[in-house]
Amino acid sequence: MAMPTIIDGKQVARSLRKDVRRRARKLAAAGIVPGLAVVLVGDHPASAIYVRIKERMAHKSSIRSQVVRLPATITQAELDAAIVGLNLDPAVHGILVQLPLPDHIDVQHTIAGLDPAKDVDGLHPHNAAALLRRQDGLSPCTPRGILHLLRAYDVPIEGRHAVILGRSVIVGRPLGALLLAANATVTTCHRHTLDSAAHARQADILISAVGIPGLVTSSWVRPGAIVIDVGINRLPNGEIVGDVADSGAANAAMITPVPGGVGPMTVASLLANTVEAAERATKRG
Ligand code: NAD
Repeated sequence: MAMPTIIDGKQVARSLRKDVRRRARKLAAAGIVPGLAVVLVGDHPASAIYVRIKERMAHKSSIRSQVVRLPATITQAELDAAIVGLNLDPAVHGILVQLPLPDHIDVQHTIAGLDPAKDVDGLHPHNAAALLRRQDGLSPCTPRGILHLLRAYDVPIEGRHAVILGRSVIVGRPLGALLLAANATVTTCHRHTLDSAAHARQADILISAVGIPGLVTSSWVRPGAIVIDVGINRLPNGEIVGDVADSGAANAAMITPVPGGVGPMTVASLLANTVEAAERATKRG
């Protein structure tokens, strides 16, 4: 069988960032510098790395970013107050609360405290509802990035069967809504699904967002399917791999590598959401 086409997320992310930079500079010329605030609570090591990447990419895309570092011991009321401050700050167009938050902090309550117009992670209930009702809002970054990748590679979506493995609030569920809006037929599998492999085998487009290395083997992938591997798993030897085994990838017509597939698109989509939020704020005046 022919080797699968590797979907180059780094390259697509680069061109998306270029578009973001063009739009950010246009806004800056009109006196508005798009601003992103990343709220980092505590010192979760992976979060620190993600936040650094986001800062660097924002800077490269002409978006002003600030990291609001708060101690792990912060109270809910103090965190709420910090978020209100950012909601009211006209120089901040996008706010991202880096997850996970410490156990004593209520994530849902915290996200609900964001101004939905600044919720560039697309997790506020207002934006979640907008996604289901097909109204304008900010969409979660990873699903948005996946749609962008599929479009960049001219993958037909309309009328096709998309099977999503995983139903998380940040990936699986919103991705299902976006694919449905793009006229795909969507099946979502999760840990209680009786036979995920049997569903996966039916997919024209198979997206795995589970977090189990090597889960998706050849018997899960219909020959010629498009496979998007969202998983980011660290093996004991330190290697980062996705959910899709080599045998699964071999069946695919196209596949995203890990790293270098969906990951870069998530960050680029965050910047795209930020510039979009700034454009909308400008229109509102
Ligand atoms: P999660 O970790 O919250 O949940 C995993 C999901 O997988 C659950 O919905 C569970 O029901 C489902 N699941 C478990 N076993 C299954 C099976 N056999 N068949 C089908 N579904 C099954 O999900 P998450 O936060 O979306 O993360 C999933 C993976 O994606 C992780 O590896 C995470 O690191 C990665 N991730 C990557 C990015 C990126 O930018 N590339 C972004 C977010 C998450």
